Amino acid sequence: MSIRQLSENVINQIAAGEVIERPASVVKELVENALDAGASRIEIATAGGGLTLLRVIDDGGGIAAEELPLAVSRHCTSKLSDDVHDIRSLGFRGEALPSIGSVSRLSLRSRQAGGDSGAEIVVEGGRVGPVKPVAANRGTTVEVRDLFFATPARLKFMKSERAETAAITDVVKRIALAFPAVRFTLTGTDRGTTDLAAVPEDGEGLLRRISQILGREFPENALPIEAEREGVRLSGYASIPSFTRGNALNQFAYVNGRPVRDKLIAGAIRGAYMDALPRDRHAVAALFLDVDPALVDVNVHPAKADVRFRDPGLVRGLIVGAIRQALEAGGMRAATTGAA
Ligand code: ADP
Ligand code: MG
Repeated sequence: MSIRQLSENVINQIAAGEVIERPASVVKELVENALDAGASRIEIATAGGGLTLLRVIDDGGGIAAEELPLAVSRHCTSKLSDDVHDIRSLGFRGEALPSIGSVSRLSLRSRQAGGDSGAEIVVEGGRVGPVKPVAANRGTTVEVRDLFFATPARLKFMKSERAETAAITDVVKRIALAFPAVRFTLTGTDRGTTDLAAVPEDGEGLLRRISQILGREFPENALPIEAEREGVRLSGYASIPSFTRGNALNQFAYVNGRPVRDKLIAGAIRGAYMDALPRDRHAVAALFLDVDPALVDVNVHPAKADVRFRDPGLVRGLIVGAIRQALEAGGMRAATTGAA
């Protein structure tokens, strides 16, 4: 037996297996890249549940022609941070584009703000083509076709077109809620077009973006949530007990501006409403946690939106306490069961 280094393409496909689980993961990565590039407008188009086509167009800073090959190379990033605990951008691993390119037909077309011409690079199943000059608007257009054509085993795990489309819509909404000043459009889904107009980046704007996503009736059925303890600040809105949904998909949580799906936060919301909601009903909420970066690890998994808090009990207590207090202040809870 001899030990050899895996080829670059196999390494990328293995990484893709981790980072790119389904079309919605690609959308998440591409939209995050657009936001990191300072886009004010992001257009997302999909076909075939995202497996046939995913296209993300942004008006951000763009990529220089000579840097296109780097953008699709592993571990190459313009967001390099020497401290993984101090990450200000959404991306930082330099893994998304090479991973996507290793399992699909990827084209990356871009023109920088100052640049007078655009350029394009194509990657097909990991094979990187030459940089070619093309006409392009300012910003970047990424097209991903035939996702997972190079990894048929992964393709078999895809759910129905409808389910993949729903996952894409969910990802876009979760990111969009945290970036009210950015206009998002999503087309090609069976619900027609989602168009989230840009709103001001203040409290009122945030509430407007929240109602674009959680429904126009949400604000008048929601209680403001506000609390702070030991370096953890909580803000946002949570529904009154009469405004509920049949699942928890309408609970949106953010840690330092990043959408997260966290069992601890979900459990805390459930706990807060425990005696106020019927068993099969779920509150609607948008909660933002601002945590000293030293007290939270957002670097747990490249794709899954997990976080690890230094003091989970503190975070849970803060959420349960703040929601219960808001409910009580509104006269919406009869009895208080013990502390969190
Ligand atoms: P990361 O986001 O972790 O840096 P990616 O593989 O997602 O890694 O992207 C690699 C690099 O390509 C980014 O660091 C950035 O410089 C560039 N890039 C990718 N997408 C865009 C975009 N939409 N606009 C501008 N630059 C981009
Ligand atoms: Mg990225």
